[in-house]
Amino acid sequence: MTKTNLADALVHGARPGGPVGKQVNWPVELGSTVVFSTLEEFETAKEARFENGTPYYGRYGNDATFSLERLLAELDGAHGATLTSSGVSAITSTLLALARPGDHLLVADNLYGNTRAFCDGLLVSMNVDIEPFDPMESIGEKIRPSTCAVMAEAPGSGTFEVCDLPEIVRQANEIGVPVVFDNTWGSPVFCNPLNLGADVVVYSGSKHLCGHSDAMLGVIAATEKYHSRIRRTVMSLGDKPGAQEVFLALRGLRTLKMRMEHQNKAGIDMASWLSDLPEVDRVLHPAFDSCPGHENWKRDFSGAAGLFSIIFKPCPEANFRAFVDALTCFGIGVSWGGYESLVLPMTSERSRNLGQGPLLRFNIGFDDLETLKADVTQALEFLQG
Ligand SMILES: *Cc1c(COP(=O)(O)O)cnc(C)c1O
Repeated sequence: MTKTNLADALVHGARPGGPVGKQVNWPVELGSTVVFSTLEEFETAKEARFENGTPYYGRYGNDATFSLERLLAELDGAHGATLTSSGVSAITSTLLALARPGDHLLVADNLYGNTRAFCDGLLVSMNVDIEPFDPMESIGEKIRPSTCAVMAEAPGSGTFEVCDLPEIVRQANEIGVPVVFDNTWGSPVFCNPLNLGADVVVYSGSKHLCGHSDAMLGVIAATEKYHSRIRRTVMSLGDKPGAQEVFLALRGLRTLKMRMEHQNKAGIDMASWLSDLPEVDRVLHPAFDSCPGHENWKRDFSGAAGLFSIIFKPCPEANFRAFVDALTCFGIGVSWGGYESLVLPMTSERSRNLGQGPLLRFNIGFDDLETLKADVTQALEFLQG
């Protein structure tokens, strides 16, 4: 989708239709039972219950969820989109739809923590063979006839390297293996994984799409080949988004492009300011050419979220903790993509190889950047002890 079309779709898409004199927005569309006047109408709706567009019973969706799904499918160039109750449920339902006992699943070693925990827990107990791979290296050798999918994400959780998605797709699709891509960071504004060849794209809608830290939501957008299998799995698991969350996502999408554009600029500004501090060893941000996969980011993304990490030079742990505690504009919290600024200390196998000092992830919100810089500056005194 071109930039202008994207802006228009976000403003005009998924609005209530109907007769003259209608509200701009959907109401919070609550409901379980849907009634029909004739048995024939009921049977037709039942037949079509897994598809977008025919109300049958609340668990399968209503007019507001169908509209939101159609808009999301349009943004991603997908055959269809399915909403779930959280980003994690979007990922777990997708993997459950694709993996069968005895299958082999390739998972990038920089995935969101809960994605990996689900694979190592429930999928292993279902006798799925989980094999991690380094997303910055070729996966060609690792793909087997029993491989059911490749699960990747960019940039990597906490470490921010950007894999070569088209190359992963090329190697996987060569023998018909689907690629599932978590695009929560880029959002449909900055990256279109399906256009790059991915088969399924998943999002935590709790981050940028809703955008105000007040809702939990997940999205799965897929090509025709995979859409209905995954949608049926979501519905047979009984997962569904709440009505209020759907309302909040529809509202959040109206300003998504503006918010992403601001976060792109603010994140790069803060990251470059931080990278010049004597206490900072390195910044992990895809827009910086020191970031592994920077070239992939330049080719495949048109901007960056306000989420990145820095690695401090080695310092006593107590000083690092005192620094984090001294920040007043940055809350300590998981999640991100809202209006508020956040920090989160993170460590992983991958991050331990990147630097010796502590790693701190930043989410840059909509605060004044000078205020944020002044806050970091005053807290740095605690880092020095
Ligand atoms: C937050 C997050 C998720 C999980 O989403 P929830 O809505 O919190 O369940 C999945 N992937 C990424 C990259 C995330 O940041």
